[in-house]
Amino acid sequence: MLGICSSPEFVQHLTGQLHPERPDRIRAIHLAVRQAGLIDSPNPFPDFSLDLQLKPAAGPKLKELSPTPADEKTIELIHTQQMIQRLKHICESGGGVLDQGDTPVSPRSFDLALLSSGAVLTCCDAVMNGTVQRAFAATRPPGHHAEPDRSMGFCLFSNIAIAAKYLQRHHNVDRVAIVDFDVHHGNGTQAAFENDPSVLFISTHQHPKTCYPGTGYEWEEGEGPGKGYTLNIPLNPGSGDGEYIAAFESKVIPKLDSFKPQVLLISAGFDAHQDDPLAKMEVSEMGFEAMTRMLVAAADVHCRGRIISALEGGYHLRALGRSVVRHLLALREE
Ligand SMILES: [Zn+2]
Repeated sequence: MLGICSSPEFVQHLTGQLHPERPDRIRAIHLAVRQAGLIDSPNPFPDFSLDLQLKPAAGPKLKELSPTPADEKTIELIHTQQMIQRLKHICESGGGVLDQGDTPVSPRSFDLALLSSGAVLTCCDAVMNGTVQRAFAATRPPGHHAEPDRSMGFCLFSNIAIAAKYLQRHHNVDRVAIVDFDVHHGNGTQAAFENDPSVLFISTHQHPKTCYPGTGYEWEEGEGPGKGYTLNIPLNPGSGDGEYIAAFESKVIPKLDSFKPQVLLISAGFDAHQDDPLAKMEVSEMGFEAMTRMLVAAADVHCRGRIISALEGGYHLRALGRSVVRHLLALREE
């Protein structure tokens, strides 16, 4: 069974009228999963409309999971106390901008960052205690750019990195793999585990010469005991389903096969979509489904199917809603 964890509260992280990482991303996903017939509960955003052209899919409904906020101690598994307190202070003082203006925060953003990380941890608990086999967290703010000592790139706390540590600390897991197919390099996740051979980090992204944040070269492959446990796969602008699937077949899946993770985490960003305004890739919704299917097959072999996937980017609302649905349909398969 597939779980989905989200909250209508995520729209209260306010980033300003013109910011791409905006509340409507959550509204679009809530609408899409209902139009696709994946969940039955009433839409918390009845006034939001979007031409998604989705039809109800056959098959079992998803199990809705209600998120519990992470506590500050759990955030400290990855982030410094100083960074956490600074973010809290800025939000309590009415909000502001971090990261040279890229990452705005509003009064409720600190609490919602705790809830966003918490949603991913709620998914971890549900998967590890067997309530569901896989789960997806539809959350914001996203996480994969947030480094241990700073928020950046629209990301406040490193949700997926916190989840990996949490699984090790609270669920007796030794080896965790994180696959990040967001179009941007997951620099925050990489920074958290650079020296750690117990967490394999694999990222496909638009080549750092042409794309934010300018890291993620092939030669970045971990340090010290962590050398060989970071795999960066930069792809040229214009890459589409064919290039991505080839990279998964030739690099991502073989690396997972040699590492043999006990749980697989996905940083699921949908900004490599052909309609996305922030990057120059050409992936289709079926491409995201195909990549997800390959990850599901690998998880079936190595980790009893256990996958926790968390939303990262994806800034074209229609493309985001439709791509999330394809991702969920692939995750739902037995
Ligand atoms: Zn991104």
